[in-house]
Amino acid sequence: MSLVIGAGLFIGGRWAYERRRREELLNAPLQPAHKKIVRARVPVYNRLPLDLRKRLDGLINRFIDEVKFHGQEGLEITDDIRVTIAAQACLLIVNKENRWFKSLKTVFVYPAAFKSKLQKVDGHVHSERAAVRTGESWARGPVILAWDHAAYGAFAPHDGENVVIHEFAHQLDEQTGVTDGSPLLDTDQSASQWARVFRQAFAQLRDDLSAGRETFLNPYGATNPAEFFAVATETFFEQPHDLQAYNRDLYDQLSRYYRLDPADWF
Ligand SMILES: [Zn+2]
Repeated sequence: MSLVIGAGLFIGGRWAYERRRREELLNAPLQPAHKKIVRARVPVYNRLPLDLRKRLDGLINRFIDEVKFHGQEGLEITDDIRVTIAAQACLLIVNKENRWFKSLKTVFVYPAAFKSKLQKVDGHVHSERAAVRTGESWARGPVILAWDHAAYGAFAPHDGENVVIHEFAHQLDEQTGVTDGSPLLDTDQSASQWARVFRQAFAQLRDDLSAGRETFLNPYGATNPAEFFAVATETFFEQPHDLQAYNRDLYDQLSRYYRLDPADWF
């Protein structure tokens, strides 16, 4: 009996310790060296309102504390890599209280575009580019990124392409248990409105492509609704004004989902 009570106290104590540590990380400013990296490598950071910037600092602290990074093909993981990836990933949840990449434990980083070893299990993995890939997101598993693309995506914040934002949109989508472009909505957002707007926008992109019309959204979004959500998210953060002009309803749904208005940042 005393052994059981002892074990319970130990687990309770450890849980309290971890919670306290997490709170401290979330409330702490970025270390000066990390701040320097974010400012130089993730320019969108400099445009964020101060309250969001503070919150992002805390989330980056938590991310690099809890998520393990593994370099592939001889890539040495540095603070540059950790902080640049963490900053972009955490931008997605910067204003979504209590939302976290719960099942994510590991990020694998290749120096450049990589040949996936996982092609035979495509039913369970969302990956970019058929043969050579820049990123993958596994349901209840790791994110895999090409560092050169992750760095460039951050540094060029207005070209509408960002592999880190893309893969972490999949991570959010996967939290419902099904990766289908319908992420978990807060109770104040209508699921039927979301479904209508996304269904129409997805159909529009596919129609434009089959008619040979030039598309504003990356044609890769026409692959399936999950890819459409990830591509629309990249555009939302990188080309908010253009997305508003292209499809105001789509922008508004994403704005309500992320609880952010990037059009105000630029
Ligand atoms: Zn994808």
